[in-house]
Amino acid sequence: MKTVQRISGLKQMIREAKKSRQTIGFVPTMGYLHEGHLTLMRQAKKENDLVIASIFVNPLQFGPSEDYAVYPRDLARDSQLAAEAGVDILFAPEVADMYPGGYENMMTTVAVSGVSEGLCGASRPGHFRGVATVVTKLFNIVEADTAYFGQKDAQQAAVIRQMALDLNMNVKIVSVPIVREADGLALSSRNVFLSPQERQAALSLSRSLRWAREQLEAGQRQASVIAGGMREIIEQEPLAQVDYIAVVDALSLAELTHIHSPALLALAVKIGKTRLIDNDIWEAR
Ligand code: AMP
Repeated sequence: MKTVQRISGLKQMIREAKKSRQTIGFVPTMGYLHEGHLTLMRQAKKENDLVIASIFVNPLQFGPSEDYAVYPRDLARDSQLAAEAGVDILFAPEVADMYPGGYENMMTTVAVSGVSEGLCGASRPGHFRGVATVVTKLFNIVEADTAYFGQKDAQQAAVIRQMALDLNMNVKIVSVPIVREADGLALSSRNVFLSPQERQAALSLSRSLRWAREQLEAGQRQASVIAGGMREIIEQEPLAQVDYIAVVDALSLAELTHIHSPALLALAVKIGKTRLIDNDIWEAR
């Protein structure tokens, strides 16, 4: 595996790969890799000649009171894991190369309306503009045939799909199911922030989703009943503070009153200082 820091260096490699007609799979990440990221990389490896993964903690997508400065970073460990997962080129740019004029001064940004507005978009103003902008930049640099995103960030995947469609981007977007710990906790780079008690409390997210699925399978279709029951489960944990619990159409992300399939059940919960998200897509059988 080659590690590249400079955009110009990566573009040179990509020109060579295109000359020899290699297909390119791309996995954008913020690093501190875990099995969720590695699953995306392995799938990319199966489906492409060349796999490029990026590691970039994008300042443009963090709010002023969010965890940009303390977001976990470990490039040496990430390099080893990425190489083992089959990544051919690891792109780890500096902020100064991605935003030469400063990210605060970006003249051009990409804003996706509609799907960006509810859920995390409502509690993190500017977040999806930051995501859509950096992903556009990365897509323009990498020129991948296929890009891989985790369903863990369901709204992000919906925003990227909408953006790629609306702006005629020449990249196929693939979503990969959520990877969880054996006890149900969705893998996240932010899980390292959790104390042992907080980690225990964090299990309430997946527990509430499992409960919701049981209710749906038993025929419950009222969104308020599902969301209310999920909230009760979370609120049994003194360390947990609900940001939102949403029952929405899985494609448009429009709020549902009466649940139809496919539905996305999504939640964001603060466990201590750490904001965690999780979700489940329910499709009628
Ligand atoms: P991040 O580094 O958190 O920005 O995540 C990079 C990519 O990995 C995104 O497409 C995420 O949705 C995906 N991802 C993160 N956690 C998981 C997980 N537990 N399962 C599947 N994909 C994930």
